Amino acid sequence: MGKNVARRVKERDTCARRDRLKQNGMTGFRSHMHIALDEARAAALRGEVPVGAVILNQAGEVVARTGNRTRELYDPTAHAEILAIREACAAAGSERLPGHVLYVTLEPCAMCAAAIAAARIARVCYGAADPKSGGVAHGARIFSHPQAHHVPEVHDGIAEAEAKALLRAFFAERRL
Ligand code: ZN
Repeated sequence: MGKNVARRVKERDTCARRDRLKQNGMTGFRSHMHIALDEARAAALRGEVPVGAVILNQAGEVVARTGNRTRELYDPTAHAEILAIREACAAAGSERLPGHVLYVTLEPCAMCAAAIAAARIARVCYGAADPKSGGVAHGARIFSHPQAHHVPEVHDGIAEAEAKALLRAFFAERRL
């Protein structure tokens, strides 16, 4: 196992373990995935695919919390992450977000991953993997691509079961 891979695996384990501690009510680390999950639930109530996102600034303050609004806005680019990046950039008064952390309930697609790189976001924590449309661990793998000009720290599988259950329930309802 290469050094980088080993480090990434270790970070992911640490992040997942901290998230479990949080879920168990233990202190010491605050995962903000619960806010992203709230936004995903709110998106489902609006009839949008339930994906939610949160961005924290360098001080750990929530500067954006958003859910999918592609249907409401008639905008295929209105994914939770894109809307969150717009909000956070407006709050920062900058087109870049160094030191910021993004939580999103689903693996970002290629469009969102490219926007995350362009915004220079420091860390991305996501929930469910998305083999169909994801662009981080699947498909275009934007952050591993030679053209990636910024590679954030990535942690996957945070509150994965909850994020997956939301999506599954949403699509099961549509199929009835
Ligand atoms: Zn996206």
